[in-house]
Amino acid sequence: MRALTYAPGKPGTLDVEEVPDPRPAAGELLVRGLAVGVCGTDKELVAGEYGWPPPGRERMVIGHESLGRVLEAPEGSAFSPGDLVVGVVRRPDPVPCGACGRGEFDMCRNGRYTERGIKELDGYASERWTLKAAYTVRLDPALESVGMLVEPASVVAKAWEQIERIGSRAWFEPRSVLVTGAGPVGLLAALMGRQRGLEVHVLDRAPEGLKSSLVAELGATYHSAGSLEGFARARPDLIMECTGAGSIVLEAMTATAAAGIVCLCGLSPGGRAFQVDAGMVNRDIVLENDVVVGSVNANLRHFRAAATALARADPKWLRRLVTRRLPLEHALAAFEPADDIKAVIDLTT
Ligand SMILES: [Zn+2]
Repeated sequence: MRALTYAPGKPGTLDVEEVPDPRPAAGELLVRGLAVGVCGTDKELVAGEYGWPPPGRERMVIGHESLGRVLEAPEGSAFSPGDLVVGVVRRPDPVPCGACGRGEFDMCRNGRYTERGIKELDGYASERWTLKAAYTVRLDPALESVGMLVEPASVVAKAWEQIERIGSRAWFEPRSVLVTGAGPVGLLAALMGRQRGLEVHVLDRAPEGLKSSLVAELGATYHSAGSLEGFARARPDLIMECTGAGSIVLEAMTATAAAGIVCLCGLSPGGRAFQVDAGMVNRDIVLENDVVVGSVNANLRHFRAAATALARADPKWLRRLVTRRLPLEHALAAFEPADDIKAVIDLTT
């Protein structure tokens, strides 16, 4: 079968190659790969910035935003041939730490977790893959063309769960959320904000266009801007920071209403310094009982929440997030810089 593979740590090694068909072990499903989404992490992996191959190997299959259809399911599993499924990305560390031992491997404490397509486990960008039933999530059949959005949506579902758990420390009835960044994560954060009945604002540098129209279709408000200055008066209860841009992150930390929660979901490059009045940042956070929290990755519960959220969304809206679909033979083009919201590799052509 064909697979999209790379040698972690070695830029320029991404290629489509013939690899042996996978054989399911006990408790594993055999799945026909339908598609994988490509995100910023994949581009960093291909650029050699990080990534770890399985022990004893140089190359591995890339891809963690999976979508497939079950070909074979083990006796007694909850799955049947024909089911539309996605695979969870992370696996618990072998120790395991206290978090992993309780299924909260997204919060792993020792960093020895593994991840499909990223860290020591083959990813999902192949024509067939195997998957433990325990890390499989079944999707609504209506998500056939957009199910690869479940993984980015799982990261967002976890961030919302974090916000709600933190909020429950006291009286908590948020009215408004500001989402910074209108990439796939920001747009899915806005979708889930609307599903919670919140007044949603989305801020992005892009001028009016596809992003602003996607935001408007959710019943949210789009702000084409590169700073949070416009929110100095109407301070949002919550901020989901999805740009990772250092200046926006710093602004966000003091931009909420009292008892506000800022959830940082974006990753910043290092090496850019800003002048900050640390005392004023501290005063704002302490005097308002604010919380700033980082959130990354997702466990099985978050994947299930994401699958439910996408099944409730307008499928036409979700399809518009996928701005490019490439056949496997042209997969390398999905990793070039482009003006995509989400590029997807079709594994069936
Ligand atoms: Zn762990």
